Amino acid sequence: MQPPFDGKIWFWPAPVPGICFNEIMKRHFALGVFLYFCCVLPSQGGGFDMLRQNMVEEVLAEVAASSPYSGRDTLSPAVITAMKKVERHHFVPTWLAMFAYLNRPLPIGYGQTISQPLIVALMTDLLQLKEGDKVLEIGTGSGYQAAVLAEIVKSVYSIEIIEPLGKEAAERLKSLGYSNVEVRLGDGYYGWPETAPFDAIIVTAAASHVPPPLLKQLKPGGRMLIPLGAHFMTQYLMVVEKQTDGSVTSRQIVPVSFVPLTGGH
Ligand code: SAM
Repeated sequence: MQPPFDGKIWFWPAPVPGICFNEIMKRHFALGVFLYFCCVLPSQGGGFDMLRQNMVEEVLAEVAASSPYSGRDTLSPAVITAMKKVERHHFVPTWLAMFAYLNRPLPIGYGQTISQPLIVALMTDLLQLKEGDKVLEIGTGSGYQAAVLAEIVKSVYSIEIIEPLGKEAAERLKSLGYSNVEVRLGDGYYGWPETAPFDAIIVTAAASHVPPPLLKQLKPGGRMLIPLGAHFMTQYLMVVEKQTDGSVTSRQIVPVSFVPLTGGH
């Protein structure tokens, strides 16, 4: 029988019924839980695999709930597969690895964040990517979004303005085997003219307007996903489409909250 709760932590099932934790045992117990989550689970891919599957289920439920705004009631099979495959715990600081599969943005240093999995999935899905596509990302950050894209398309070009973040992301992506991602340091406002045009462009920081150089580097028939709006004000995720005749249309998807697109432009 379980001992009655008296405010102490009980070891149950108790080897000797009725023995409760003293202070030292409590500390050992807490340390054990901490080590389990920080060391044992991370070292067994299995624990994270399960958390990642749950995260994707949660993302799918939220995509369905936001379908009146996004027009998407589910994600394409390619996006679901990529989200299930990319190991987000490699893209967050080690001390946050245990929170990597929460559907939340997390800090990655230098005042920047890794985007919320729902937003990564939705933006990737709205790009309507094809296997042979060449994609430009502005705002490499941790490299997570680039990895998700790289699971789906032939080549990804990603630009990061904060040097240490860009260098770390490039090394991380290389060590994880993403040979189809190239990272460059610089102001993404100006795009990557030498490798343009791109089938799709994704901007992962909020801009006040669509950067004209990016629009120029988008192929006719191509799509750009970009959050527009000022920091701390309402921002909207926009789909910008360049028609085959060169004309441009845009539509608002969902309200979002991104760090600002910085740089000297
Ligand atoms: N996509 C990232 C990921 O998967 O981790 C998250 C991006 S974070 C929300 C936005 C990133 O955009 C930051 O790393 C920030 O330094 C970068 N950024 C802001 N302005 C930029 C600019 N003008 N050019 C390139 N990167 C920029």
